[in-house]
Amino acid sequence: MTDPIAKLSFWGVRGSTPTVDPATWRYGGNTPCLELIAPDGTQFILDCGTGLRMLGSRWAAPSGGKAPETHILVTHYHWDHIQGIPFFSPLYAENNEFHFYSFRSRFLGRNSLKQVFEAQMALPYFPVDMSAMNAKRKFKEMDGGDSFKVGQNKVTARWLNHPQGCLGFRIETPAGTVAYATDNEPGDAQLDESLRELAAGADIFINDAQFTPEQLKTTRKGWGHSSWLEGAKMARQSGAKTLVLFHHDPDSTDRMVDSILRQAREEFDSVFAASEGMVITLGAPGDSVQAHMPGTRTALRREAQFHAKVSGVTEGGKEFEEETMVRDISLQGALLSLKHLPRLQSELQVTMEAPGTDGVQAMNLRGYVVRIDAGPEKGHVAVGVVFTD
Ligand SMILES: [Zn+2]
Ligand SMILES: [Zn+2]
Repeated sequence: MTDPIAKLSFWGVRGSTPTVDPATWRYGGNTPCLELIAPDGTQFILDCGTGLRMLGSRWAAPSGGKAPETHILVTHYHWDHIQGIPFFSPLYAENNEFHFYSFRSRFLGRNSLKQVFEAQMALPYFPVDMSAMNAKRKFKEMDGGDSFKVGQNKVTARWLNHPQGCLGFRIETPAGTVAYATDNEPGDAQLDESLRELAAGADIFINDAQFTPEQLKTTRKGWGHSSWLEGAKMARQSGAKTLVLFHHDPDSTDRMVDSILRQAREEFDSVFAASEGMVITLGAPGDSVQAHMPGTRTALRREAQFHAKVSGVTEGGKEFEEETMVRDISLQGALLSLKHLPRLQSELQVTMEAPGTDGVQAMNLRGYVVRIDAGPEKGHVAVGVVFTD
C-alpha cells in the first residue's frame, strides 16, 4: 500500500486587496485561496479570493467520466475572501458539483453565502447574472464548534476574532491535520482559546501575519489581524508543528516578508511564509511535511560554469560558507550545486567570478532559496535561487 499523502496548494496568500506591484511578486499578489487534496481524493478549497481564478484555470479535467466533487469552505464575507467567485470557470461547467460552507451572517440572514453570490453578479456589477453558472451548487451553514466528515476527513469550524465574524477551519486527514486561521486578532480570551483548539497539535497551522507586532499594538489595533509573533506564540502553546505566515499586508514588499519570516524563525523552529504557488505535502515517508516553492525562474536559462562563493544558513540553522560552481544562470536566478543543505526560503550571499574588461571581477548577488533537489554529484544538493536585488 502506498502512503497516504495530502497536498496543500497556496493559490492566493495576500490579505485585503490584490497587489500587482513588482516588489511583491515573489510572495504573490492574489488574495486568499488554498486547495487541499486529501489522501482519499476529496478536494477542499479554503476561501475564494482572487487566487481562485488561477485554480480554476488549472482545473484538472475529470478522469473516468466522474464529475469532481469539491467542498469549498469560506471563512467570512470580506471582499478579499470572495472576490474570485465570479471568475472561477469550473462554476460555469454543468457537470461540476460544489458544496459551499459558511456561516449565517447577522447582516445577511439566511443563505448568506448564496446571497453573496447573487449580489456579486447583480446588475450593474457583473456582465452576466447567476443563470450563467451551470455547475450544481449546494450551500450549507456552519457555526463555530460544528464539524462534519467527508470521506476519511473531518472538518471542524471555530470562531475567530474578526470584525463581523470569521470562521477558522481544521481539516483532519489520514496524512495529517491542517488548521487554517486567517483573519484573526489576538486579545479576546475566549476566541484565543478557540484558536488554540483549532491549532492543537496540527501539522500545518496557517495563521494571519498581516501586521508587525508594533502595528498590532498601536495603529492597527482592532482591524482584526495578527502578527508573526502571535502566530509563533500560538504555535508553541498549541503544539502545532509547522507555522505558515499568511495574509501578507498589501504594503509588505517581498523584502519585508523576508524579514518577518527571519524574525519568526528565531521564535519558532519550523516556519514558512505563504507564497503563491507553494505546495506542502503531508504524510510523505521520511519527512512528514515537505514544502515546494513555485518554479519562478521563467526567463531564458543558460548553462554556465562560474566559480562562486556561497554563504547562508543551513536547514539546521547554522551559518556556512562554501566554494562551488554555478551550473546554470538566468536574469532571475541560478542553479547551484552545494554540499551544505540551505534552508528553504532563506537568503544566500552568492559571489560569482565574472570575466570583465580588467580581468576577473567579483559579482555579489543575494539569492533566495526556492528549491532543493538531489544533485547529480554524490553528497551535493542542487539549489535553485532567485536573485532578489
Ligand atoms: Zn482577509
Ligand atoms: Zn477579513
